[in-house]
Amino acid sequence: MDNIKVEIKELKKYFEDLLGPENVKTNEPMSKHTTFKTGGPAWYYLTPENGEQIAKIIDLCNKTGVKYHMHGNGSNVLFDDEGYDGVIIATCDNMTELIRDNNVLVAGAGVTLARLAKEALDGELTGLEFASGIPGTVGGAVVMNAGAYGGEIRHVIVTATVYDCESKEVKILGNKELCLEYRKSIIMEKPYIVLEACFELCHGDKEDIKETMNDYNSRRREKQPLNYASAGSTFKRPEGYFAGALIEECGLKGYRVNDAMVSEKHAGFVVNTGNATTKDILEVIKHVQEMVYEIKKVKLEPEVRIIKK
Ligand SMILES: Cc1cc2nc3c(=O)[nH]c(=O)nc-3n(C[C@H](O)[C@H](O)[C@H](O)COP(=O)(O)OP(=O)(O)OC[C@H]3O[C@@H](n4cnc5c(N)ncnc54)[C@H](O)[C@@H]3O)c2cc1C
Repeated sequence: MDNIKVEIKELKKYFEDLLGPENVKTNEPMSKHTTFKTGGPAWYYLTPENGEQIAKIIDLCNKTGVKYHMHGNGSNVLFDDEGYDGVIIATCDNMTELIRDNNVLVAGAGVTLARLAKEALDGELTGLEFASGIPGTVGGAVVMNAGAYGGEIRHVIVTATVYDCESKEVKILGNKELCLEYRKSIIMEKPYIVLEACFELCHGDKEDIKETMNDYNSRRREKQPLNYASAGSTFKRPEGYFAGALIEECGLKGYRVNDAMVSEKHAGFVVNTGNATTKDILEVIKHVQEMVYEIKKVKLEPEVRIIKK
């Protein structure tokens, strides 16, 4: 596909030739692919199988000046109600290879954390118990350094294989090079795409691992509003505080704009109680930020990533 001149309207044919028509959707509502269940249509929604296909998609996007967005399970993103004028590259359908070799798991970017954790359990491996209830993919979890109950991706990841969109090279980044901190990684700052990740775990007792997973998941059910659409904790934990406690202390539980609401069960979650739009959710987020700053003088930063049209 080198040196071809492609018009935007011709992209569909190129994508279909590259990926097969079944992996190319046009005008795809992002509300179908996000846990918040909001977001308008994306020009293209593509489900590639590997890094080579991703490289070609990106090459084509660059040549045509069309923007692109990497997508995992959409469990930490808010898409504009007007949609996304570009190409969504989604890993969760076809980049799902998972290999276990002794105490090492190698997972494609689209493998869900639930499946990764189950594989660890089946292999009697401990270290991923924290991940079993996080509804993201390996790619999204590396980007966000996902974590819960004291566990984090950075504790178990050995390497991530990434595609560097600038140098057009595939690179293997070690744990330190990934610069994993609280909900932060080098992937957010560089033009990197996660293709797969390798995790090293320790042998453990299957019953203990299972019990820990069950305990974490029942704590989630007890404390979190899992009956509503959301993106989990809406805000990052501000240093020295808990976002949920601050919001609750400001009397904001139940604050709503149309169907978007600060959860009554856990104030750290903004939820979609029915037909909320991204605009409604953003209005709730803004109000919460303003009130918490006014009353507590603490700045809340969204954890959820806002994707512009
Ligand atoms: C009910 C609920 C509970 C949650 N609990 C937790 C929790 O306990 N702990 C926690 O950390 N999070 C939690 N989350 C948030 C979310 O699940 C995590 O942030 C998760 O890691 C996001 O993964 P994803 O695949 O859904 O990523 P997406 O939401 O699809 O994407 C998130 C970001 O990663 C980028 N991205 C995705 N895949 C790639 C890739 N292959 N290469 C490069 N960039 C990529 C996207 O562009 C985007 O910027 C929760 C969410 C929900 C809905």
